[in-house]
Amino acid sequence: MTTKTLALDGPAGSGKSSVSRAVAQRLGWVMLDTGAMYRAITWAVLQANIDLGDQEAVAQVASNTTIEITTDPENFSIAANGEDVTSAIRSPEVSASVSAVSAVPQVRELLVQLQREAVTHSDFGIVIEGRDIGTVVLPDSKLKVFLTATPEARAKRRSREVDPLADSEAIART
Ligand code: C5P
Repeated sequence: MTTKTLALDGPAGSGKSSVSRAVAQRLGWVMLDTGAMYRAITWAVLQANIDLGDQEAVAQVASNTTIEITTDPENFSIAANGEDVTSAIRSPEVSASVSAVSAVPQVRELLVQLQREAVTHSDFGIVIEGRDIGTVVLPDSKLKVFLTATPEARAKRRSREVDPLADSEAIART
């Protein structure tokens, strides 16, 4: 049986995670947050205390890191090398370093392979989100969505991710 897939791409702050979760819940499917996987590798790289510009060293850490990620839309968690990093991957340090780590070709190869395996082994339909899903990870997905939002909505969502109290503080100030 071929797994049903929805490939959801879009820029930062467009609401990919919220939409993936809602769609997966509605359809009884699972979901894969690929950004969380890049963040988990970044967390491991930061723990290793290596130079982020040393792509060989970054690739080495990535290949020695085991990632376990849940795909239940109701209950998300992710572990790196057996340690729960669900909260740690949202830290400002990880957010500041994730784009450098995800630019390393070997890191991308490794994670794209894991993502394809997650799809192949899924017993349910799967919503898979991230910026290269429809183009690289699952180019043959029958259902592809590119999600956009206004620059204002994206900026607001981004600031809420960095500081969950940003909106309430803004409201309190008015
Ligand atoms: O979606 P999220 O903000 O958690 O993604 C974190 C970062 O991981 C992105 O800003 C991007 O640098 C990287 N990423 C990627 N390819 C993906 C998903 C995320 O390069 N499929």
